[in-house]
Amino acid sequence: SNLGSEVHRFTTAAALEEPIIPPVRVNDTQLLINGKFVDSALGKTFPTLDPRTGEVIANVAEGDAEDINRAVSAARKAFDEGPWPKMTAYERSHVLLRFADLVDKHNDELAALETWNNGKPYEQSAKTEVPMFARLFRYYAGWADKIHGLTVPADGPYHVQTLHEPIGVAGQIIPWNFPLLMFAWKVGPALATGNTIVLKTAEQTPLTALYAAKLLHEAGLPPGVLNVVSGYGPTAGAALASHMDVDKIAFTGSTDTGKIVQELAAKSNLKPVTLELGGKSPFIVCEDADIDKAVELAHFALFFNQGQCCCAGSRTFVHERVYDEFLEKAKARAQSRTVGDPFQTGIEQGPQIDSEQYQKILRYIKSGIDSNATLECGGDKIGSKGYFIQPTVFSNVKDDMLIAQDEIFGPVQTILKFKELPEVIKRANATRYGLAAGVFTQNIDVANTLTRALRAGTVWVNCFDVFDAAIPFGGYKMSGVGREKGIYSLNNYLQIKAVVTALKNPAWL
Ligand code: NAD
Repeated sequence: SNLGSEVHRFTTAAALEEPIIPPVRVNDTQLLINGKFVDSALGKTFPTLDPRTGEVIANVAEGDAEDINRAVSAARKAFDEGPWPKMTAYERSHVLLRFADLVDKHNDELAALETWNNGKPYEQSAKTEVPMFARLFRYYAGWADKIHGLTVPADGPYHVQTLHEPIGVAGQIIPWNFPLLMFAWKVGPALATGNTIVLKTAEQTPLTALYAAKLLHEAGLPPGVLNVVSGYGPTAGAALASHMDVDKIAFTGSTDTGKIVQELAAKSNLKPVTLELGGKSPFIVCEDADIDKAVELAHFALFFNQGQCCCAGSRTFVHERVYDEFLEKAKARAQSRTVGDPFQTGIEQGPQIDSEQYQKILRYIKSGIDSNATLECGGDKIGSKGYFIQPTVFSNVKDDMLIAQDEIFGPVQTILKFKELPEVIKRANATRYGLAAGVFTQNIDVANTLTRALRAGTVWVNCFDVFDAAIPFGGYKMSGVGREKGIYSLNNYLQIKAVVTALKNPAWL
């Protein structure tokens, strides 16, 4: 059996052979350019797969450089000639609010499509992610009519003001791990600030973006304002990043690809770039922490979304005095994780996204075993179909092991022991990444020391993965450039114009 010797609560391999039929139909598979669904210029398509089985869900139009050209022209025209940037901000905000209402109305279809294409538990899609998607658009709708410049003092007889203007055509490239939420993080602020967009979805997950973009048009978005091109990175993605008529590029994905995108932007027209990249986030459990809570949150921090989170708490540092207790409980928790068909209720973990990621994770597990980390549980695939992996825990992990350095992006928890605060700070920061960190302690002074010493864009204290719309998110070091969400995200899509007007009568001065 592939189930190994551990007793897991997951569905048996046999049950995975009979996947549940998703309660939704796939209607939208073409590119969305200038408000219309169209075939790709070369007539090419590519299959999009069900990660539960590896079988084809649908064939989707495959965009390439020529489709990016068409989409950028449509976005350019919609920006230069309007009506979107010329509408009042209040009208734009209404389009976003009507869209959020349509998302609520179609919650279950969007959730089913997201789960079918990505493999994440349906309950997570339906109860958390699609509602959060609507929430993000309501948040950005609120900003639309609250963006304005300043009146600025001058050393002479001048009236000086700043105008906050949209930057123009935004190119956006998103990953497959949160297809809808990544759409919202990018499209929300760009639309609220009056930009037009060409969005390139991840090749693994093109379906929900097409559906959501259709609903945005139903909500009153004018044609050409949001164009969605499905396709591969080195073709469609690279064409977008290097396009001379794109004024800004935003990217989420791996650090290696982020470097390519930044280089393409620099070599073409120096368009500004924001990047959300990888991570190897520390999760630090101090000796005084509430251990049961820390175990549960450390488990969630790593295993959530099949371990496919850029901010996954993927280095669990535990103080030596509580290490044994923590380890025993963390192992028991992983062994009780329910893995199975994500359409089934009560399932915590579905399949990994695709064969490439699945094989990569299994190679990292092998590397952990080969480097003499202790495999506490899991360590193998489940079943013969699709991309299911056992919840896996390694203990005795050393900082220089590959599994403690690389982003595994899978359900593999690595537990490391520490003794002292200065030591764990140094080790936690000894990575090229700096996306997030978790701190578990009841001592306010320890918490304050850690939150200030950790070089990470987000530090969660006694919680993890709290992602409200207003909380900024982004990375230090090689985890990225810039911030998304919250007030900070608006600047990514704004130009600042200083208007200096000579005063004929310098007032009462
Ligand atoms: P990736 O970086 O290759 O893909 C992300 C997006 O970039 C996709 O839309 C892809 O089509 C596009 N892309 C790829 N090559 C491109 C190019 N040359 N020019 C322009 N766009 C390009 O990521 P992946 O291969 O899907 O996953 C690999 C690893 O990336 C994962 O194992 C994980 O470590 C990391 N990852 C991180 C995140 C995150 O949220 N930060 C998300 C997904 C993957």
